[in-house]
Amino acid sequence: MKETSKDKKIHKNLLPGQMSIKGFLGKDKRNFNEIISADRRELDRIMLTTKMISDRLLYFTDLAFESYDDAIIIEKKYEVKYQSFRGKLICPFGHAGVYRKGIITLKNLENKIEISWTPLNIHMISDHCFFEGKGSAHRIEAAILKNAIF
Ligand SMILES: [Zn+2]
Repeated sequence: MKETSKDKKIHKNLLPGQMSIKGFLGKDKRNFNEIISADRRELDRIMLTTKMISDRLLYFTDLAFESYDDAIIIEKKYEVKYQSFRGKLICPFGHAGVYRKGIITLKNLENKIEISWTPLNIHMISDHCFFEGKGSAHRIEAAILKNAIF
């Protein structure tokens, strides 16, 4: 695939820098378009959609946000905690709009799987099918998500 100038700009935004100290690609050497295509195939394989995932993450996020810094138990099965930080983030894909800084941690009390995500992750999953590069701090594998939140 030919890289457009828009792609180049997005790629630059995904590297460590102004938008994020650590960046969004981790140790992944693939182009972000390749990362996205690979994750799309993975979602097809495990029969999930970005909407199913982002709706579910948003549901947990909103409930945890209400309870400030205390962990809450949701559906008697998920322990969720929202840690908020001062500041806002913008989408590296060049959208208007800002996302709250914060980390949501979820522990599935049945299988003990623990995952975490940020409000920006939810947007990047829902609108870009972007789960971040391998080795990135907030990369979440779709297969792990499936076991953790469904
Ligand atoms: Zn976006």
